[in-house]
Amino acid sequence: MTADLPAEVSRLSKEESFTFSCHPGVACFTECCRLLELALTPYDVLRLRLATGLNSSQLLADYLLVEQEAGEPFPRVYLSMVDDGRASCVFASASGCRVYPHRPAACRSYPLGRAVSRREDGSLTEQHVLLREPHCRGFAESAVNSITSFTREQGLASYNRSNDRLAEILQHQAIRQGFIPNQSQNGFFLHALYDLDLFRADCLASTALGTEEKSRLATDDEFLLSFAMAEVERQLFADLPRGLSFTRLERHGPC
Ligand code: SF4
Ligand code: SF4
Repeated sequence: MTADLPAEVSRLSKEESFTFSCHPGVACFTECCRLLELALTPYDVLRLRLATGLNSSQLLADYLLVEQEAGEPFPRVYLSMVDDGRASCVFASASGCRVYPHRPAACRSYPLGRAVSRREDGSLTEQHVLLREPHCRGFAESAVNSITSFTREQGLASYNRSNDRLAEILQHQAIRQGFIPNQSQNGFFLHALYDLDLFRADCLASTALGTEEKSRLATDDEFLLSFAMAEVERQLFADLPRGLSFTRLERHGPC
């Protein structure tokens, strides 16, 4: 047990292994999909669009909640839970997760937790913890995992890549020094990163972008999200306007 962590949380190094498996046969199947606060990253939302067939605006309206605590630099986006007395995830069903191939990173990683922090020189370091909650029977299974094998099996590479890029914004030096984006900037943060289809429409309507760039933005979701992150970074931290006209800048102001 580590002194500064709760009893059920322990640090895990790359060299260590853990026994764990989750499948429909475990007695606790979908128990971890109840009574939770599930914060979503932009890449989670990108993938949930694919799972549901909804565009990002519909997802935001029907399934997501936006909150911003006083003093927090950025708004947070949560998946809504249903009022069934157990605060179940909106995508949980008796037969499992209804968006399984596109489930969010937090669902893929459980019971492994990954935190990245940005060093002074801008590079990122990662740390892992293992969460052993009493209700989770997966630890009684015999499958042996390492961080590397579990990350691979859960398809986390593309999620980690995008979320590491996001960490460069969330942990930017200006933010660490106390900069709080204003309402308009946070409106753009939500619009560009979480309402990707609307952001795409704005990019395609912009006269500042070339045909080749637009063609890729029109068809490549991950390129579009990378582009959006670069734009957010520019608009928040560098006064380098590119002349883009984002007419819907304040559509998703923080609640
Ligand atoms: S509680 Fe653990 S074993 Fe049970 S469904 Fe969730 S992850 Fe799987
Ligand atoms: S998205 Fe799927 S795996 Fe994640 S909490 Fe909801 S039902 Fe469970």
